[in-house]
Amino acid sequence: MTKSKYIFEQLARPNECWHESEYEWDKCDKPHYGGWPPPDFSTWSGFGWAWERVIEKPWYPDFIKFATYIDNTEEEIEADFLMKKMGLNNFIHPQRFIDALYDFLKGGRT
Ligand SMILES: [Zn+2]
Repeated sequence: MTKSKYIFEQLARPNECWHESEYEWDKCDKPHYGGWPPPDFSTWSGFGWAWERVIEKPWYPDFIKFATYIDNTEEEIEADFLMKKMGLNNFIHPQRFIDALYDFLKGGRT
C-alpha cells in the first residue's frame, strides 16, 4: 500500500473510498463524496483535504504535539531549540505535513 493510500484510508469520512482508476471509481456503488482522482497530498489541495479530516480525529491533539511541539512543556521545548524556531513554519507544508502524519499513524504517537 502506498503512503498516500494509507493516509487516505486513515482519514476518510464515510463513503470516501480510494480507487486506483476512474473506471473502478465509476463501478463503485457507494454514494461518493468527492470524485476521482483521490487527493494528491503533495499539493495544497491535498493538504486541505487531509487537514480538514485530521482536525476531526480524537487523536488530533496528540498528533499536533508529536509534530510541532505545541503544548509541550518548556523543558521539552528547551531541549530542542531548533524545533521551537521551526515549529509551525515547518509543519504547514503539504509534504512535511503528510510525512509527519504518516510517522505519527505508523507508531510515533506519544
Ligand atoms: Zn468508491
